[in-house]
Amino acid sequence: MKLLEYEAKEIFAKYGIPVPRSGGVITDAAQLAEALKKAGDGPWVLKAQVLAGGRGKAGGVKIAKTPAEAEAIAKAMVGMKMVTHQTHGKALTVAEVLVNKCSDIKREIYIAVAMDRKGERPMVIASAEGGVAIEELAVSKPEAILKVPLDAVRGIEPFQARSLAFKLGIPAKELRSFTAFVTALARIFIDLDASLVEVNPLIITPDDKIVALDGKIVTDDNALFRQKALAERPDHEATDLELEAKKVGINYIGLDGDIGCMVNGAGLAMATMDTVALAGGMPANFLDVGGGATTEQVTAAFRIILTDPKVKAVLINIFGGIMKCDVIAQGVLSAVQKVEFKVPLIVRLEGTNVEQGRELLKKSGLRLTAADSLWDAAQKAVSALKENKQ
Ligand code: GDP
Ligand code: MG
Repeated sequence: MKLLEYEAKEIFAKYGIPVPRSGGVITDAAQLAEALKKAGDGPWVLKAQVLAGGRGKAGGVKIAKTPAEAEAIAKAMVGMKMVTHQTHGKALTVAEVLVNKCSDIKREIYIAVAMDRKGERPMVIASAEGGVAIEELAVSKPEAILKVPLDAVRGIEPFQARSLAFKLGIPAKELRSFTAFVTALARIFIDLDASLVEVNPLIITPDDKIVALDGKIVTDDNALFRQKALAERPDHEATDLELEAKKVGINYIGLDGDIGCMVNGAGLAMATMDTVALAGGMPANFLDVGGGATTEQVTAAFRIILTDPKVKAVLINIFGGIMKCDVIAQGVLSAVQKVEFKVPLIVRLEGTNVEQGRELLKKSGLRLTAADSLWDAAQKAVSALKENKQ
């Protein structure tokens, strides 16, 4: 799960990490005046809240000296489409804009706590050359990046924090606040089951204060069961369909292709996607209805697949193990009767009570194509798709 900058900064503040004074987040330029008032005297900085770095270069971080300037920026920024070097060519829509009091900067430093997979422990990554893309620095000047391995339970030790401060050239009178800063950062990493807590840049102001000017937190979804507060936050990356799927307990991830897939079991779902690709098609989604899918879940899954306008054919691949094929066929039939569909539907059933299942589908008189094997199903889906497109 990825948190937006303002969410990260709220967590930073809770842990005592200094952040710029905030006027909050606006979703409409009409809310700006209130936000500016809350952020204090100008100048202000307006920041597009999207899940990608490199916003500065893409026009997503703008400084306003006057309220009129801020208004012009807010009007342009709310709703703007943004492409940065981290969005892989996709445009992100800016729904929220963070209003902060503008900080004066003497120095920019990079600091993060990340998972060191090789070392099997967290580590602090830091560089005196902050503000720039750390990935580029890692290639061009790897010696400029400092790494401090951490204990996964204790976090950073005071001597490690002090040593890092000296290497980064932190002013002596800010030594204490710097050690508190990295200690809190490591604590957040551990407390939130994070995979990344990043501050780029941490700034030193002209009066030698240390402030987190930007923030990024990525947490591990596998730990959400014990992160109640995080689990309640909106998942900014999920599409509407993915959110709906989550609500009914279906594992669904939208993809770029046009063959919708409904499968029971994650492994079988992956194999189905591969087979569709092998047959020359492109899966529109990953969908695992689970081992004990109910008729309601199958119906919801079917609706979710068909809501995606890219879907031009649907492939249902169900293996009846714990669930019997005739029960599944019944589920598929009732789903198909409830949800209107115009695209070709290919069904492959295998496993316990497969004959009864196939018989039910055949007798139903519904417009669907039965397949004998996964390979047969994938090929039928691809050719049905081609015909449907003509
Ligand atoms: P990113 O480009 O998405 O990482 O967004 P950042 O929040 O890191 O901002 C990018 C750059 O904009 C920073 O490295 C700063 O140089 C500049 N910037 C952001 N906020 C302020 C601010 O309050 N004052 C000043 N002077 N510069 C800022
Ligand atoms: Mg940044």
